[in-house]
Amino acid sequence: MGGKVRYDIIVVGLGGMGSATLFHLARRGLRVLGLERYDLLHEYGSSHGLSRIIRLAYAEDPSYVSLLHRSYELWRELERLSGERLLQVTGSVDAGPEDGAIFPGALESSRLHALPHEVMNGVELNRRFPGYRLPASIQCLHQPDGGFLLPERCNLAHLNLALARGAEIRCREPVLGWEVGPKGVRVETAAGSYQAAKLALCAGAWAGKLIPELSSLAVPERQVLAWFQPLRPEYFAPEAFPVFNLEVEEGRFYGLPSVTIPGFKVGKYHHRRERVDPDRMNREPEPEDEALLRRFVERYFPDGGGATVMLKVCLFTNSPDEHFIVDLHPSHPEVAIAAGFSGHGYKFCSVIGEIMADLVQRGETRHDVGLFRLRRFADATARGEPRSH
Ligand SMILES: Cc1cc2nc3c(=O)[nH]c(=O)nc-3n(C[C@H](O)[C@H](O)[C@H](O)COP(=O)(O)OP(=O)(O)OC[C@H]3O[C@@H](n4cnc5c(N)ncnc54)[C@H](O)[C@@H]3O)c2cc1C
Repeated sequence: MGGKVRYDIIVVGLGGMGSATLFHLARRGLRVLGLERYDLLHEYGSSHGLSRIIRLAYAEDPSYVSLLHRSYELWRELERLSGERLLQVTGSVDAGPEDGAIFPGALESSRLHALPHEVMNGVELNRRFPGYRLPASIQCLHQPDGGFLLPERCNLAHLNLALARGAEIRCREPVLGWEVGPKGVRVETAAGSYQAAKLALCAGAWAGKLIPELSSLAVPERQVLAWFQPLRPEYFAPEAFPVFNLEVEEGRFYGLPSVTIPGFKVGKYHHRRERVDPDRMNREPEPEDEALLRRFVERYFPDGGGATVMLKVCLFTNSPDEHFIVDLHPSHPEVAIAAGFSGHGYKFCSVIGEIMADLVQRGETRHDVGLFRLRRFADATARGEPRSH
């Protein structure tokens, strides 16, 4: 088995980023192998949970917006190629205090990139979308292109299309180590060893274990998601309920309409701030995990707070500045890295797959990835800036 075939590129990790990377490499005619430590669509990583927000009015930094345009284009292409509906537009709401962490950034991105948008206060928003019950003091930006993706279906679409273009995949085969030598890259797994010219590492919460240089730059954090059965289901249907990103005195939360299961979905960014080891963490939701999300829903979305229908544990992998890490390995230009997606990466999987394919195949990309380079951390240390999460 292992050692006989030499691949052009091996992709480690078949979650959101790895499945997209595998697809983009396979469509370029390269001989590729994808290695995954668990089953396909397992629930130990970061890409499960039925839905993921996609939004254009990006509060995190306006430079994400150009990538988002390409991301939308590639998701739509994936829908055409797979014949599946993967992205549903609901509109998005970015809301919070006028001088907070979300609203001004969303407004700046909308203005700089001439995105259609409307600004209103909480009470005006409640009138338009009756699932919401926000106070008048909250400033809201509504952007009509926001919506959600179906992550399990997106991952499968990327994988199936990669397989159809000749990619190979092996699951339940953890990568134990890799090394670069004169003949290329050698990857050791629990089942054997493989040779390739190049390597793409998309290991999510395990990035720091496979790439020691990232151990303090890609830090896993336990999250919990809740789905509550709406008391007024019509208010929480995708046609009536835009996805949101909301800053209130209890923290920063996000939410999505009822899709696939009869549950209004909510989460809190950085939930209970629990840094974890993904191989040793508590994967069971606790009563306090649910209670803190329920308190939020009862206050700001009271018609959404019926019986709990599902709770799931998931993982963020935070970089110090919460921007992504997408770059070549600092010592090995044959190795490209996608990591540190800091709880907001899924919507970008399609374009990150294209960027990773560019980086690992050609060492460069036409996309602007300046914000994601690893050297920014060394530069910050040289300037004496503290690392923070
Ligand atoms: C609760 C929650 C809500 C989120 N909501 C949103 C949202 O609404 N919108 C949004 O854009 N983003 C959101 N995100 C973030 C987004 O989901 C992640 O950024 C994205 O899924 C990361 O993808 P990934 O490929 O890096 O990780 P993963 O999908 O976890 O993939 C990594 C894969 O690598 C495999 N692997 C690791 N080590 C090895 C090894 N040694 N050998 C073989 N395989 C290995 C793992 O098993 C895993 O399958 C959310 C995240 C969470 C946790």
